[in-house]
Amino acid sequence: MLAWLGEKDPQKLEKLFREARACAARYVGPKIYFRGIIEFSNQCVKDCYYCGIRKSNQNLKRFTMKEAEILECAKAAYGMGYGSIVLQSGERQDENYACFIENILRKIKDVSSGKIGITLSLGEQGPDTYKRWFKAGAHRYLLRIETSNPALYKRLHPEGHSFEVRKKCLRALREIGYQVGTGVMIGLPFQTYEDLINDIFFFKGEDIDMIGMGPYIPHADTPFAALQRVDPGYDAAENFRLGLVEVALTRLVLKDVNIAAATALQTLDAEGKEKGVLAGANIVMPNITPTDYRGLYQLYDNKPCLDENARKCKNCLDQRIRAIGAEIGYSEWGDSRHFEKKKAPSSF
Ligand code: SAM
Ligand code: SF4
Repeated sequence: MLAWLGEKDPQKLEKLFREARACAARYVGPKIYFRGIIEFSNQCVKDCYYCGIRKSNQNLKRFTMKEAEILECAKAAYGMGYGSIVLQSGERQDENYACFIENILRKIKDVSSGKIGITLSLGEQGPDTYKRWFKAGAHRYLLRIETSNPALYKRLHPEGHSFEVRKKCLRALREIGYQVGTGVMIGLPFQTYEDLINDIFFFKGEDIDMIGMGPYIPHADTPFAALQRVDPGYDAAENFRLGLVEVALTRLVLKDVNIAAATALQTLDAEGKEKGVLAGANIVMPNITPTDYRGLYQLYDNKPCLDENARKCKNCLDQRIRAIGAEIGYSEWGDSRHFEKKKAPSSF
């Protein structure tokens, strides 16, 4: 597997991607599912060295969308036939925030008569908070481990950010009953090909249901961008290639999990999402955040579609996914087959 990460021959890569696409069709079906993502707040108590909305970035106006605005987005997503939405934000662990989310979850369920699926991506929380949100209607949770190498994790984060805590969170989510998603950034400073292979075995070892991973892209106002100026090792094209190979290898090893084609792929290549699907991904996450807020949620430089409204974004993605011959599972949850199989009673 290691050799694939270094493979540059386009014909050989094409063959790998074709195999991964066929594997996806066989194990998770031919459909691609849309999850409308609402990036509703850039307030964050964490200071990850790579992230554009980290606490210490002062060059940024902070915002949190109002409950009514979030509900409007959820209703629009439901109206457009998205089976699910994703609520994502910076991390906050205070009671007001926990309550704010709990209420919104109930209301989203109400406005969609319980029909819209909800994934959360709200960082590390205590088990009680995760339970409250689960009871209020969320059923999937995405928490990237960022890297499965604890030593590398330490280089990516300041004091007070813990690999072990993040791993415990993943396990707590599983215990509670969520479909659990994780993932990594690909092409990070100091990351090796071995790390990327170990990441795939970390997903397997933790019995993960969904994968959301994508290329690392620098943001000018972060310590890591400053690092890049000293050591200009960052290569966008190389990170894009690595991102697709990692998607394909993950599909071939894990087979029946959901894998998202990350927005970061589209940032590096205008056809990044389609190429992610052709390399084995089966989930796409159109941005349905109101355009007024999108510029304030820049995790990395040059994030795409900053001025495209939700409807335009949907039409554009619909055309792009159909153009590669894939079918879209509108108004379906598209849950992880891996998770469903675990729930199904054994035939013996
Ligand atoms: N705060 C929550 C958390 O960290 O889990 C959820 C939101 S956070 C912005 C979502 C993901 O963005 C992170 O898990 C990280 O992998 C990704 N991210 C942050 N900065 C990035 C960068 N510079 N390049 C690519 N992905 C990045
Ligand atoms: Fe905050 Fe998440 Fe960014 Fe880390 S990656 S700074 S937790 S928003």
